[in-house]
Amino acid sequence: MEIFNKHQREIATKIDPTAKITEWCNWKWHVQNSIKSIEQFEKLTGILFAPEEREELEKTRTHFPLSITPYYLSLIKTSNYRNDPVFKQSFLDPKELLISPNEMKDPLSEDHDSPVPGITHRYPDRVLFLVSNVCAMYCRHCTRKRKVGDIDYIPDRTQILKGIEYIKNTPQIRDVLLSGGDPFLLPDDYLDWILTELQTIPHVQVIRIGTRTPVVLPYRITDNLVNILKKHHPIWINTHFNHPRELTASARKALAKLADAGIPLGNQSVLLADVNDCPRIMKELVQRLVANRVRPYYLYQCDLSEGLSHFRTPVGKGIEIMESLIGHTSGFAVPTYVIDAPGGGGKIPVMPNYIISWSVNKVILRNYEGVITTYQEPENYSNTICKRNCKECSLELDISSGEDINVIGVEKLLSDSDETISLIPNNNERIERRENYGN
Ligand SMILES: *Cc1c(COP(=O)(O)O)cnc(C)c1O
Repeated sequence: MEIFNKHQREIATKIDPTAKITEWCNWKWHVQNSIKSIEQFEKLTGILFAPEEREELEKTRTHFPLSITPYYLSLIKTSNYRNDPVFKQSFLDPKELLISPNEMKDPLSEDHDSPVPGITHRYPDRVLFLVSNVCAMYCRHCTRKRKVGDIDYIPDRTQILKGIEYIKNTPQIRDVLLSGGDPFLLPDDYLDWILTELQTIPHVQVIRIGTRTPVVLPYRITDNLVNILKKHHPIWINTHFNHPRELTASARKALAKLADAGIPLGNQSVLLADVNDCPRIMKELVQRLVANRVRPYYLYQCDLSEGLSHFRTPVGKGIEIMESLIGHTSGFAVPTYVIDAPGGGGKIPVMPNYIISWSVNKVILRNYEGVITTYQEPENYSNTICKRNCKECSLELDISSGEDINVIGVEKLLSDSDETISLIPNNNERIERRENYGN
């Protein structure tokens, strides 16, 4: 157990000569003493940059500000910092200023799909609700880099209430995903208030919280916070570990507290060049996560946000990693690899191919070992034609009438109750020509 080890003690006393373990384990102390300047970074790590490099770094910092918690900084291995995954995720890189042609400020069009400030309503039954603009650490690979360094402010009650009002008035929403910023940077009583408001909405069945505090500020998971969360079940939490090195004694303790409170934990990793783009690192990470009761949920392809080109890998790297996980380790240790579609199409899962071929009565599949096998299709399957009228169906789904009648996308093409044959893009030239023929 190395909570407040010698190295961390040295860092703490450089910040404040009287600092003890009490300060180190106090999350507010870390927020107050976050490292925001290159000078402070140099002073605490003993790393010194050459004057020309410092100038480049300073230029980067004015575009994309710096903020590292003393705890996360203490995980940097200074002897080999240039290859260090913690350093790369937290410290400035002048390559952030290179903007490639295909990069965008808001690649996921979150601001476009926003009915009221703070809410992104992209999927039919769930919303993303940005309740905090504050983060403990500024991850260099942040997909919302456009917002980082906007003056840290906490949306006030009036603004939060607008989001809550939207959710109240939209009965399709059964899942609210709180994100930011980091919702756990809010004061306890403010978070308690938001959760209480959401809980009073009858159609909201689950509340999810996305937070990186277990990784960069594990001391935020206090008894008081956990007691608040427990009052508002069902609460699900997704966190953001990218490398096995981040699963320290402090982080594991934070995860244990959350899991003991009955909160299902998930993890969303981002595939990052020179940080975790390695099947062995990823396998180690997912296995250690499940050992700490965290279910790997998503592995994200790095978004097309501005300034992230040095972090991006080809999609093939992700497929290679998935190939190394599926079948090779516990099924619940395998995340879903997703590309968040530029333009706002949402998350698209991508996988290696397992179906080799298909006939009317056989499917030919291959497994993770390369074995090619045949699955015989059933001979006497009689398909129930679905008219979307559950009252007349022999399957016993007792849903109220009018519920779940909308089908969209490919599901609509497959459905028996809809006549649609093709999905045709807007402005399809061939269809427009047809209209001109007047036939
Ligand atoms: C990721 C995301 C969600 C949640 O998606 P799940 O696949 O259900 O985890 C919801 N809204 C937005 C805008 C998202 O980006």
